[in-house]
Amino acid sequence: MVVAFATASPSSDTLLTQQSSVMELEPALLALTSTDTELFYETQSRRGDTVAIVLRRLMITDAEAINFFKTKKVTQDLAKLLKPDTRLVASVTSSGKLNYFTVPLKKESNQFYVIERKTGRLIATIKPLPLQRQVITKTAEVHRSLLESTDEEDIPEKIILQLSEVFNSTIDFQHDLKNGDRVSVIYETFNYLGRPVKTGRILAAEVFSKGKSYRTAWFSTKKSDVVGNYFTPDGKSMKKEFLHSPLEFSRVTSGFTDSRLHPVLNQIRAHKGIDFSAPTGTKVRSTGDGQVEFLGRQSGYGNTIVIKHKNSYSTLYAHLSAFAPTLKQGSLVKQGDLIGFVGNTGLSTGPHLHYEFRLKGTHINPLEIAFPDAKSLNKNQVSEFKTATSNYFSSLNLLRQFQIAQYN
Ligand SMILES: [Zn+2]
Repeated sequence: MVVAFATASPSSDTLLTQQSSVMELEPALLALTSTDTELFYETQSRRGDTVAIVLRRLMITDAEAINFFKTKKVTQDLAKLLKPDTRLVASVTSSGKLNYFTVPLKKESNQFYVIERKTGRLIATIKPLPLQRQVITKTAEVHRSLLESTDEEDIPEKIILQLSEVFNSTIDFQHDLKNGDRVSVIYETFNYLGRPVKTGRILAAEVFSKGKSYRTAWFSTKKSDVVGNYFTPDGKSMKKEFLHSPLEFSRVTSGFTDSRLHPVLNQIRAHKGIDFSAPTGTKVRSTGDGQVEFLGRQSGYGNTIVIKHKNSYSTLYAHLSAFAPTLKQGSLVKQGDLIGFVGNTGLSTGPHLHYEFRLKGTHINPLEIAFPDAKSLNKNQVSEFKTATSNYFSSLNLLRQFQIAQYN
């Protein structure tokens, strides 16, 4: 159901919102008499707001409510919650009586501070409020950087980060995306009274780059929708067995070579790894599923982690400033798990991560090999996947046709 927002506002910054039906609200929140009309007012709190100012903007004139807001406890609670740009909503009867007032406790959460009328009296509580799921489709053309482009289209940053994670093994968002490339994304948000308060997950997406389309959709092979993965339209996993980089955003400063002048030893030595430049404290992730084989200090490498993976692969992460708190020798790790932090320990001339990739003990260049695919769907799962996601792929087709019509 859509909340109808009327624009007849008592002041320019207060949106008078009127709803003909309040079905989606929790019954406890309703204190309407049958003859009354419920009016919704909303405003964003600003720097310097006091409770009195906020009440005025929300058209709360009810003396009982004003007194309740003035009590010490409520004043103290609200002082903590009225951060700039927090959305405040009040439901008021047409005779001016406050039904309820809500403030979100924090971003990306359904927990609210609620002042509501219960058996005739106003009380303040903290509780989750029911949110409505909404599926949103957006498309954006890349200019300058993806983040800037998607900002213009109002795609949440959280979704862009998810997008670069999902396509991590396929496209390097930092280097491969060019002006004119496009992204389309279908994702979910969770709304409170018509406005998003929580960003959900990407359900399907397309990146159109250098004349090629890369598509994916989310699917769970389990009954629960908590565990799932992203697959290509034909059911192949979007994941490779290894991530290209142990850092989310990074720059390669020294590549893999058989001879280079060692910056500290000042001798010609082979550099059998990749150096990623990043500030101290940057999160280091395990590039694949595996088990910690070594965690500790090694002379030149400083704080080092070695992870053993299946099929005789192993990875090494050196010069770390610290290890992930609970990690120890023998710990099992999943791809993308935080294992430590970039540092400058051992023979190192500045904060960076030294990363090595070995197959059967032999160093190989991780930037040059094609990683094996992670586990894909079996035949039955592929047909389930196709049924479950056909609507998303149809939507992506429509967007594509629309783009071709508009931009060519
Ligand atoms: Zn190195």
